[in-house]
Amino acid sequence: MDCLFCKIVAGDIPARKLYEDEHVVAFHDISPAAPVHFLVIPKKHINTLNDLTEDDKALAGHILFTAQRLALEQGCEAGFRVAMNCNPQGGQTVYHIHMHVLGQRQMQWPPG
Ligand code: AMP
Ligand code: ZN
Repeated sequence: MDCLFCKIVAGDIPARKLYEDEHVVAFHDISPAAPVHFLVIPKKHINTLNDLTEDDKALAGHILFTAQRLALEQGCEAGFRVAMNCNPQGGQTVYHIHMHVLGQRQMQWPPG
């Protein structure tokens, strides 16, 4: 399968990894939108949030908990933003689900 993030999981494309375990990988975004900007992805390929199933509920929680733990490790005690973009109108460009974690600057609401 021609998926950029599956290639990062496999180690075929380099990434600045922050964390890896059996189920997830976290790495710095190549085009950071904040001083801290990393992505948490499942090792399993899932196209979009719409493709999550009941069987993925523990994995989805693990992604969120990993995001929280790493955000604090990256010094985001003052606050941070998590975001998951779904499909074109949601702003998704890479079709392997990923949670963005942004921090170390003031976030605005609503996002663009
Ligand atoms: P999205 O627009 O929500 O699908 O987010 C995709 C994100 O992946 C963007 O923030 C990109 O900067 C990031 N990205 C694309 N290619 C890479 C890469 N090779 N390594 C790290 N981040 C990447
Ligand atoms: Zn993939």
